[in-house]
Amino acid sequence: MKKNLVVGAGISGAILANLIASELNEKVTIIDRRKNIAGNIFDYKDKNTNITVHKYGPHIFHTNNKKVWDYLSKFTKWNYFFLKSNAVIEGNICSIPFNLTTLYQVFSKPQAQIFEEKLINTYGYGTKVPILKLKENSDKDLNFLSSYIYEHMFKNYTIKQWGLKPEEIDPTVTERVPVYISCDNRYFQDKYQGIPAKGYTKMIENILNHPNIELKLNIDFKNIKEKFDRVFYSGAIDEYFDYKYGELPYRSLEFDIQTIDKEYYQKSAVTNYPNNYDFTRITEHKYFLDEKSEKTIISIEYPKPFESGKNERYYPISNPSSQELYNKYKKEAEKINGLYFIGRLGDYKYFNMDLAIEKIFELFGEIK
Ligand code: FAD
Ligand code: UDP
Repeated sequence: MKKNLVVGAGISGAILANLIASELNEKVTIIDRRKNIAGNIFDYKDKNTNITVHKYGPHIFHTNNKKVWDYLSKFTKWNYFFLKSNAVIEGNICSIPFNLTTLYQVFSKPQAQIFEEKLINTYGYGTKVPILKLKENSDKDLNFLSSYIYEHMFKNYTIKQWGLKPEEIDPTVTERVPVYISCDNRYFQDKYQGIPAKGYTKMIENILNHPNIELKLNIDFKNIKEKFDRVFYSGAIDEYFDYKYGELPYRSLEFDIQTIDKEYYQKSAVTNYPNNYDFTRITEHKYFLDEKSEKTIISIEYPKPFESGKNERYYPISNPSSQELYNKYKKEAEKINGLYFIGRLGDYKYFNMDLAIEKIFELFGEIK
């Protein structure tokens, strides 16, 4: 029987450990250097208010992949939840992604009608148009509209988030939040959306609850002396190789979590502040599970450069030079038998949870 080590008890590591333990009936040791499981989807119940807090930022599970949804549904019930985010634009609370409702919140009715008609005639109702594509449209009205959206929603948010302008980052990043020619105010349109009814940490605990799985927290991979036949590593690939080709760039965040002495702080779970302040968004956590309390908990999100030892890596910064550097590490990894890199850091990809799970299913299919 093969001995398996999974490094990192986030969603990627936990699911792989479960598949190996349950479907291959092999022993798995899973470690994490944090004191808790669940990686960046870790949540906890605040003792004073009983509100579940997403410690590392707002996490909404959403997917079109039934296999992924059904798999997680074996370990959790769901609070069916659609995120309806707002952004403060010129002091007004507006729906985002920017959509046909937003048009009427931002412009006078006659002006909004002109834009609405042009958008529908040009792109079709229900279409999603990335802002950088919309900016290429030379029609006078649509050009005015795209510049407005770019200036008021994307430019300063992206500068805060990445330290770069939208056109300086991988276009797939801003394409995550396209202009949506629709009255659908939801942030995501996936078929399956929800929040684990007892929280993400409980869901991961259930995934790890298998007699073949041994969990060890507070331990770094570099302190593991035991030998394993297979090692699945969901930490940063550049760190694994001791940065021998140089450091991969990442973006980090700082969360200022506050208890506020009023029932509700804002009108929805997430409010973005593209233009004002140094933070990008405020999350109000009680909305996710519709929890009742006289108080509320918010977290204010400040983007930061990643500094090793000081903060966490949250986002890989994808550009041609970081991709080239990542490929060097990947080649190095391929030379080592029984070593697999997984997850957002191991694959160096801006994965949502569902894509991270799809990649784990793929890898498991290969090793099986
Ligand atoms: P991680 O959760 O990062 O887990 C890696 C684990 O490995 C960590 O626990 C780490 O401590 C451990 N580790 C690393 N190195 C070592 C080592 N050397 N030794 C021991 N342990 C180690 N996705 C969605 O689908 N919906 C959302 O709404 C959403 N919102 C997000 C909001 C924010 C602010 C962020 C940053 C991400 C969001 N995501 C969202 C993405 C989601 O967080 C990731 O897809 C998911 O957490 C990736 O899981 P993972 O297991 O690959 O990595
Ligand atoms: N974005 C923006 N303004 C917004 C929301 C998003 O400019 O109000 C851009 C920004 O570049 C951001 C990207 O779209 O990094 C992706 O946003 P998303 O909400 O998906 O970010 P995440 O939740 O992954 O941090």
